[in-house]
Amino acid sequence: MRPVSEIKVTTPHLGNLHLLLDDLFDRLGVEYIKPPPSSTKTLQIGVKHSPEFACLPLKINLGNFIQALEQGANTIAMAGGHGPCRFGYYGIVEERILRDLGYDFDFIMLEPFRDGPRAFYRTFAELSAGLSILKLWKILKSSFTKGRAFDRLTWRSLQVRAFEVNRGDTNKALRRAEKILAAARSPEEVTAAAAESMSVINSVEQDPGRDIFKVGIVGEFYLLLEPFSNFDLEEILGNMGVYLERTVWVTDWIAPRRDNKIFGFSKHLLAEKAEPFLSHNVGGEGRETIGSTVLFAERGFDGVIQLLPFGCMPENIATSILPKVQQQHDIPVLTLAFDEQTGRAGMVTRLEAFVDLLKARRGGAPLASWKRAAKPETMPGDSCAGCAAKSASGSACSSSS
Ligand code: SF4
Repeated sequence: MRPVSEIKVTTPHLGNLHLLLDDLFDRLGVEYIKPPPSSTKTLQIGVKHSPEFACLPLKINLGNFIQALEQGANTIAMAGGHGPCRFGYYGIVEERILRDLGYDFDFIMLEPFRDGPRAFYRTFAELSAGLSILKLWKILKSSFTKGRAFDRLTWRSLQVRAFEVNRGDTNKALRRAEKILAAARSPEEVTAAAAESMSVINSVEQDPGRDIFKVGIVGEFYLLLEPFSNFDLEEILGNMGVYLERTVWVTDWIAPRRDNKIFGFSKHLLAEKAEPFLSHNVGGEGRETIGSTVLFAERGFDGVIQLLPFGCMPENIATSILPKVQQQHDIPVLTLAFDEQTGRAGMVTRLEAFVDLLKARRGGAPLASWKRAAKPETMPGDSCAGCAAKSASGSACSSSS
């Protein structure tokens, strides 16, 4: 392994993860080479060098790595894992492919925290030579706290976009808010910047009387987190006036306890909801997909969209069970599978048809399902999109808990 001063580390793109990593590697004093944003070129490179049967995320990851290595990265950090699906050996396969292609690099497998703090610290020790465990823990905690705040901004933008008056305002506000937060360093600065950046999102001009639909996004973590892999599906739906909640978030996914703080519902609860349909873990997010669909139905959402890479084992299991959930809980579910052959236009057509279906189900009654919602759509300290919508319709908002 190279000395820390010579390390130029890279990671795959995964939604807003790079914002957290920018902060972390800066605090560790390690140079971070971000791959260029994922693009068709990234995918083409990945597809060219991957086994044909590999899941789409592996192909895009590989493209990210090759682009970063070409830009001077000499160390790759990749999440490890284990379980019934293929994710656990992604890193090993990617490393082998890159070495066969002749690239020279160090490879660090970031083992999950649940494998024990020792394994976790050992991984980071290679990137933080000389730091005590206490100091390293403090750094990880600071960056993670900031990561939570970045996730909350995105979370809020999924609500606000459905109500925005001028298309694109939410995107601009989100970029501005992320910049404010990225500049914060000390815990006090991060707290202040988190509040300021949230108010930037909340200040987007909104039409509180708009008749919106509420849709839950469930499925495989990479497809949910990486906008390139799903053709910016959240933005497309937001522009159609669809209010979204998604079940997977970067900091929920990497949290030591995987405690789902951003989504707001524990894994335990999701397992309970899934129990009548699927009583055991099938790897990935398969069981959570079922549990979350039940939960969205109970909370009065208009529909659910499941995203999965073509050939994804856990999500294919969930797909085969979802028709039963759909029938018993009376909630429409749209399943979208993605691979390198998937086209944006086809996906948009299916989304439009799904929203038309939701309109037809509502039968013209404005905000019917919004009023049925069982849980407030706010986070502590946020102003509530529900309040705005309800005050416009003349009723008080009950989202106070
Ligand atoms: S969850 Fe699905 S797509 Fe992701 S690694 Fe596992 S099998 Fe592949």
